[in-house]
This record gives sequence, structure tokens and C-alpha cells, in this order.
Amino acid sequence: MQKEEVIIIGAGPCGLSAALKLREKGIDPLLIEKGNVANAIYHYPTHQMFFSSSEKLEIGDIPFISERQKPVRNEALTYYRTVAKRNELRINNYERVTKIEPEGDQFHIHSETSIGETSYYVADHIIIATGYYDHPNKLGIKGEELPHVSHYFKEAHPFFNKKVTVIGGKNSAVDATLELEKAGADVTVLYRGLDYSPSVKPWILPLFESLVRHKKINMYFNANVIEIRPKDVLAVIDGKEQVIESDYVFAMIGYHPNQNFLKNIGIDIDYETGRPMFDRHTMETNVPNVYIAGVIAAGYNNNEIFIENGRHHGELIAEHITLKKKNR
Ligand code: FAD
Ligand code: NAP
Repeated sequence: MQKEEVIIIGAGPCGLSAALKLREKGIDPLLIEKGNVANAIYHYPTHQMFFSSSEKLEIGDIPFISERQKPVRNEALTYYRTVAKRNELRINNYERVTKIEPEGDQFHIHSETSIGETSYYVADHIIIATGYYDHPNKLGIKGEELPHVSHYFKEAHPFFNKKVTVIGGKNSAVDATLELEKAGADVTVLYRGLDYSPSVKPWILPLFESLVRHKKINMYFNANVIEIRPKDVLAVIDGKEQVIESDYVFAMIGYHPNQNFLKNIGIDIDYETGRPMFDRHTMETNVPNVYIAGVIAAGYNNNEIFIENGRHHGELIAEHITLKKKNR
């Protein structure tokens, strides 16, 4: 058993940022991460360009210098690795937290490594910064689990000369479609909305619209997919059933936090929004001494908290823990 003052679960940008802010206050937290640093970003599409400029992704006041207007995934991985290394953050990687049990004023934390070894910690405070990227939203329709259907997009090359259907109408769907079209896939986009979503980044929309106008991309609005079959997709488009031939399907319909993980600790979740119960001024949840940081705080809405604002959660948490210690 290892005793810690603060344990942070998840070494994404927001977990790392919280660790740096605690360090400024003289607290040296332990981070437990099931992959390696910035694991969600590692799993992004290989050639992902951020919509944020690099200074908006900075943590701990450490400059993130990029010659591009917007940095790409690999630069961000380098940046977050460097931040972790330069600050000698204590990170137990390839270790997944499996259970947290409140025990008096403390928490018992159980974890398991990728080779099945288990560990056990006791902590006074916990910060949960586990993001949402591990849990894709599901359509809940027949055929969604077929092997040619994916909820993640990585690279376009394997889809050259293939018929690909992309479901969804925000940034992941648009980005994947642009890459697929460039690589010579025959792409059809099925979006339930009636027009382009205002969430689509304004600098990619003109290119996308132009490809639609030139019939390089087949774009359907008001399109609801009702079944995915081995060779095609059945959808209702403008009220009429249509069959779209598809060798591959990407359901780019967003992600959600692991609600059960939070509920098992006793954190209340708003049924409609999926938002955990927490104090916006401190990030403390309804379970005293358990905090949340990063995109996990937004529940089902993927377009409210980003690295840009989630990186500031750590400041609030560090302030609150320090204040509590003073008043003890
Ligand atoms: P994450 O980065 O998801 O980190 C969570 C960490 O927790 C992961 O490393 C995960 O492995 C770990 N973890 C999960 N469960 C456990 C467990 N049980 N035990 C141990 N570890 C665990 N935001 C921006 O501000 N600008 C952008 O340009 C931008 N681009 C994006 C592009 C894409 C394709 C996507 C999907 C998102 C983008 N975002 C962007 C949104 C968001 O900011 C990122 O998802 C960001 O990674 C969230 O940071 P986080 O630290 O909250 O969570
Ligand atoms: P998202 O923003 O949640 O969008 C999901 C899309 O899927 C929406 O168009 C939504 O429709 C649709 N959808 C959701 N549930 C559906 C269902 N059951 N049936 C049919 N359609 C459904 O998810 P995302 O595009 O994956 O983006 C996730 C996060 O990553 C966001 O923060 C985003 O900004 C970020 N991101 C950034 C970049 C970048 O930096 N370049 C690229 C990709 C993603 P509605 O429009 O009707 O809601």
C-alpha cells in the first residue's frame, strides 16, 4: 500500500496541467495513466491538426512553439512528453485505475497494469481527469458491431477506391471525410441535421462545401441511419428509405465519459446532460475531496470543454486543496 496526498487519474493535458498547478503549491501528486502521457491524443487520427493554436494548448506556462498556425498531433505529443519530463512529474503509466473506495476521510485506489499486476494506494484527494475518448457514442442500431464499422478514424490510405459512408456532421466527420476524399475513397456523408453544423470549424467548411458542390463528396442532410449491413447502409433521407452502398462505415458521432466509474464513487450524474455534480469554482464533486478536471466535466457535450479551457481546472483545484489544508 502506498500513501499519497493527491492522486490524479489520467495524464492527458488536463491531468498534467492539474499536476503542475499542485506542484506550484508544494504538493507533489502521483498521476496514474492507463496508457502513456497524452494517450487520447496518441489515439487521434494520425495526421490530426488541432483547431487551437499552440499557445492555447500550453500547460504550466511552458511555451509550445510551432511554426504552423495550428499544431499537429505529433507536435502535441512531443510537447506534452517534454512537459512531463522537464518537470519530472511522477507518472505510473500503463496502469489502469479499476476501483476507488471511500474509506473514512480517505480513498482506497486499486489499479492494474497492462501485464495484470495489481496495486493499491491510499489518498487524501483524488482528481479524475479521464476524458471521454475511450467511450464512443453508439447509434444503437442493427449492424453497428459489424467488422467494417468503426467509431474511430485513423488514416485514409486503406480506403482508396472504396465506398465509405461517414455518419455525423461535426468536426470528426468532416475531417475524416476530407482525408478520405483526398485518398481516393468514394465518400457519402449521412448527417441527421438539416444544414451544416455551426460547430464545424469555419476554415474547413468552405473546402468541404466546395467538394460537395463539385460532387466529389455525396452529402445528405436529414439522413437517419436505421441499419448497417455487410455491403450497404439503410437510411431514411428526407423521409424516404434509401440504400447506400458501403464497403466501410465510420460512425463519427462523438464520445462520452465513463459515467459508471464516477457513479461507483458516489458522484451524482445529471441524467439528461451526463454532467457530473461539481462546484464550478473549485471543481470538487458532491463527494468531498474528489475533483474532476478536463473534458469529463462537460458530460455528453463534446463542444463545451476543450484543452483550451479544461487546462485551467487544475488552478481551481490546487487553490481549493491548499485552502482546505490551511483551514484544517
Ligand atoms: P484526455 O486527453 O482524454 O485524457 C484522459 C486520460 O485518462 C487518457 O490519457 C486516458 O488514457 C486516461 N484514462 C482514462 N481512464 C483511465 C483509468 N481508468 N485509469 C488510468 N487512466 C485512465 N481541444 C482543444 O482545446 N483544441 C483542439 O484543437 C482539440 N482537438 C481535438 C481533436 C480531436 C480529434 C478530439 C477527439 C478532441 C480534440 N480536442 C481539442 C478536445 C479535447 O480537448 C481533447 O479530447 C483532450 O484530450 C481532453 O483532455 P483531458 O485531459 O480532459 O482528457
Ligand atoms: P461531436 O462534436 O459530438 O459531433 C457528433 C456528431 O454526430 C454531430 O454531428 C451529431 O449530430 C452526430 N450524432 C450524435 N449522435 C448521433 C446519433 N445517435 N445518430 C446520428 N448522429 C449522431 O463529436 P466529434 O465530431 O467526434 O468531436 C468530438 C470532439 O473532438 C469535439 O470537441 C471536437 O471539437 C473535437 N475535434 C476537433 C478536431 C480538430 O481539432 N481539428 C477534429 C475533430 C474533432 P448533431 O450535429 O445533430 O448534434
